[in-house]
Amino acid sequence: MDLRFTAEELAFRDSVRAFFETAIPADIRRLVSEGRHLTKQDIVTAHRILNARGWAVPHWPAEWGGQDWSVVQRYIFQEEMQRAAVPPPLPFNTQMVGPVIARFGSAAQKRRFLPPTANIDIWWCQGFSEPGAGSDLASLKTRAERDGDHYVVNGQKTWTTLAQYADWIFCLVRTDRTAKKQQGISFLLIDMTSPGITVRPIITIDDAHEVNEVFFDNVRVPAEHLVGVENKGWDYAKFLLGNERTGIARVGLSKERVARAKQLARETPSGQGTLWDDAAFRMRVARLEVQLKALEITQLRVVAGSTQGSDKPDPNSSILKIRGSELQQATAELLKDIAGPYALPLPDAADDLSNAPAVAPDWAPYAAPAYFNNRKVSIYGGSNEIQRNIIAKAFLGL
Ligand SMILES: Cc1cc2nc3c(=O)[nH]c(=O)nc-3n(C[C@H](O)[C@H](O)[C@H](O)COP(=O)(O)OP(=O)(O)OC[C@H]3O[C@@H](n4cnc5c(N)ncnc54)[C@H](O)[C@@H]3O)c2cc1C
Repeated sequence: MDLRFTAEELAFRDSVRAFFETAIPADIRRLVSEGRHLTKQDIVTAHRILNARGWAVPHWPAEWGGQDWSVVQRYIFQEEMQRAAVPPPLPFNTQMVGPVIARFGSAAQKRRFLPPTANIDIWWCQGFSEPGAGSDLASLKTRAERDGDHYVVNGQKTWTTLAQYADWIFCLVRTDRTAKKQQGISFLLIDMTSPGITVRPIITIDDAHEVNEVFFDNVRVPAEHLVGVENKGWDYAKFLLGNERTGIARVGLSKERVARAKQLARETPSGQGTLWDDAAFRMRVARLEVQLKALEITQLRVVAGSTQGSDKPDPNSSILKIRGSELQQATAELLKDIAGPYALPLPDAADDLSNAPAVAPDWAPYAAPAYFNNRKVSIYGGSNEIQRNIIAKAFLGL
């Protein structure tokens, strides 16, 4: 198996790299690089620059703005985006609901939703998880009962990322309580301004407002906002979750962090010299680089072996998710350790660091919040324990 890029692929990489480094504002890329929270406007700005270039939804069908790229080009695109610390186009729009509507939606839904979804004129959030239905998602209880040409929705979603910005939410709801649990679920699009919806913030350990609870109290949803066939929502959710796990290893992001760690270590006084003079520190960096190289090669082997257009989630992506999230956490920890005492105490608010010690390097007080925030990566998108179960089933036959 030849894992080297062809001359054309290298030319593609160079053009993508040049675009990311010049077209996306440096101040936005710096926020990503430091693991800080972006404003809604930052995310929208970067997303629309990509969409104007035709690169916000390259994996969508061509008639809805997709590019006819090979799997290798898609891989290069994602890696370069992470390496340049470009905020990815809003995944709820581009990776999740967009492909589901493009594949399973009605012609009217495609016309109405796909163009504004690609351009983030609609901001979507994902209403899947509930208290008691996370890993065991099919146990969800939020119910939608048919009443004439509407559904009436009651229940609660949780961990809903950035719901405070959302215009619409795509939800899994129970439409048949008598069927086997996977078979009574439907996929519903709900306008967040509908009467009866309440969004309540959950403040995370890094003192940020990133996730929410969303409550539905007799919310009336026009039946035309059902995607596909009633009670077939589980099939669409599986298709969506397969997309969610694409590019989950985030090797480019971890590589960018290690490169930054090396540079910061050279600027960080330690003993008579800098932290970079410390052989134990350099060995820690070298070990991470070797582990990242191994993951990168594994990822390239998966890319080389994958069939473009397959709907089935590749169980190899579970290996990439586990190892990729572990390395994301290890690289966030490395940056926190370089910041040393300046990484603490946690600021009152993650984005207001006016109380930080004046002598701290300006990047340092963000290192501990970013470290804490990265705990999430081994939980969302299917926890690492669940990924191990998938691997056991697929490869060991357990
Ligand atoms: C920051 C963040 C953002 C999120 N954003 C969204 C979002 O926008 N929309 C959305 O719908 N959801 C979102 N989620 C929810 C996420 O998908 C769930 O947290 C995840 O699926 C785990 O579910 P749970 O939290 O209910 O934990 P549980 O399923 O209760 O799991 C608790 C623990 O038990 C382990 N466990 C559970 N079952 C098994 C098993 N069979 N074998 C071995 N171990 C097991 C898990 O690995 C975990 O360690 C988000 C989560 C986080 C942390």
